[in-house]
Amino acid sequence: MHDESFIGAGLSSNVYLLNHDSTYYLFDASGDPGLLRYLASAGIHGSMVGGVFLTHGHFDHVAGLESLREFETPVFINEKDRTLMEETTGEYPSFMDISEANEILSMLGLVILETPGHTPGSACFYSPSESLLISGDTVFPDGYFGRTDLPGGSDSDMLESLTKLSGLRVEALLAGHGHYVESDGSRCISEALACAKSMLGH
Ligand SMILES: [Zn+2]
Repeated sequence: MHDESFIGAGLSSNVYLLNHDSTYYLFDASGDPGLLRYLASAGIHGSMVGGVFLTHGHFDHVAGLESLREFETPVFINEKDRTLMEETTGEYPSFMDISEANEILSMLGLVILETPGHTPGSACFYSPSESLLISGDTVFPDGYFGRTDLPGGSDSDMLESLTKLSGLRVEALLAGHGHYVESDGSRCISEALACAKSMLGH
């Protein structure tokens, strides 16, 4: 597994790239409609992107899809977040439900974990062999977790999702915002769960 990350400026998610047989797979698309410019600076043309996997539908993770629209790149997101995504992107013809991503993801050594709470369709991507978790806005470094007070958010779902993630062995934690955690991501998840338990008061 080879990945590179771009840290976007301002209100923009991190974007993670995975290269497999000269095809690139993106995890989240940032909030910048000019995403392709950043990819081009790394020598990646839009036609080299084989698919985009979205952790959820918020604008700061999906606006960058605009620059891939002409390539008809398949975009995978949980159906439950489709409406949210299309508030930013408008109707997106190459949308596919995340359940259809299993084949590509298993080729990449990843599994999908549904983790509602921040949004109804939030998802994480996990590599059991590399103990790597792409966690979107569900869990961040330093014990932070995603907001639950936006439309579609749920305290109880967030607690359940963090509990589920705390059962995984995680070294690298690749969150939707903030820095890249190289080791002991499990500790970040335990801290986030403890924090959520006290803040969300259940
Ligand atoms: Zn979000």
